[in-house]
Amino acid sequence: HAKNSGRNTYKIFKSGMNELIEKRRALEIDMDAALARGEFELFLQPRVSAVTAKIHSYEALLRWNHPQRGLVSPVDFVAVAEVSGKIIALGEWVIEEACRILAGTEVERLSINVSPLQFRHSDFQHRLGEIVRASGVDPRRIELEITESVLIDDDRRALQILKELKAVGFTIALDDFGTGYSSLSYLSRYPFDAIKIDRSFVSNLGLDESAAVIVNTIIDLGERLGIKVVAEGVETIEQALFLARAGCDELQGYLLGKPVALDERVRTIPASVAVVLTGSSGRTLIE
Ligand code: C2E
Ligand code: MG
Ligand code: MG
Ligand code: MG
Repeated sequence: HAKNSGRNTYKIFKSGMNELIEKRRALEIDMDAALARGEFELFLQPRVSAVTAKIHSYEALLRWNHPQRGLVSPVDFVAVAEVSGKIIALGEWVIEEACRILAGTEVERLSINVSPLQFRHSDFQHRLGEIVRASGVDPRRIELEITESVLIDDDRRALQILKELKAVGFTIALDDFGTGYSSLSYLSRYPFDAIKIDRSFVSNLGLDESAAVIVNTIIDLGERLGIKVVAEGVETIEQALFLARAGCDELQGYLLGKPVALDERVRTIPASVAVVLTGSSGRTLIE
């Protein structure tokens, strides 16, 4: 019995692996044509002040409108694009498209995700500067979201690049904070404007006591270091209220608004949520 189920598990595992490899290979081939055919799109998700309930900016989240597969998530293709090197062209398209949105619509601020490989590429800073300058958009309207893995390999170079980007006016956010190789020294060593508390901690609020401790500690750290704290993945009113009372600066998540196409972007958050947020003016309640 055990032997049989073991073999079946292996078979399932093996065919699962093959399927994954096939799928990735297919995606990789498609990606070249997809860029040329204009199948990529930036969805916008609002980032909301926990104090005023106003939309501060939007995060640009990449989507692929695949002719056969439908809407493909970046979870499925960003890693593929990194391995194949396509992430460089894709990343440049994201910067161009973000600039088009900032130049041509009422959107005031956008944050864009920069993959570790894209950030480390020798031409990144140069191309970013070129594209933004050509668009005429003020870099202060653009926030770059990077993850901790960017800082690990060559942290002196990363520090230098971040300082130069900041000097031109870009703001920098540390995405998915608390996962991966989080080190507290990053926060004082690098010039971050914002830290984004990873969704996993937010979704565990109310379920796991340590999540509340971790969230409070990150908010406290941000406050002491003068870095804005943003919570991602806020889905319930209880989470929003907890975060607002704890002094979190901004909230992002399905409760406030889902990522959707530019034209359908969320312009005001649900009134019921706004009432709760503005009625709980953060730390003043506690102090
Ligand atoms: P991320 O930057 O941490 O983005 C947050 C992810 O959480 C997004 O997934 C967003 O749709 C999702 N999300 C937001 N609010 C909620 C919520 O309340 N509940 C849940 N369950 N999820 C929520 P998405 O759009 O699938 O993107 C996944 C990841 O792909 C992003 O994580 C980012 O690392 C990467 N990505 C997205 N766009 C780009 C891009 O333009 N360039 C690069 N290099 N990576 C990108
Ligand atoms: Mg992000
Ligand atoms: Mg994130
Ligand atoms: Mg995340």
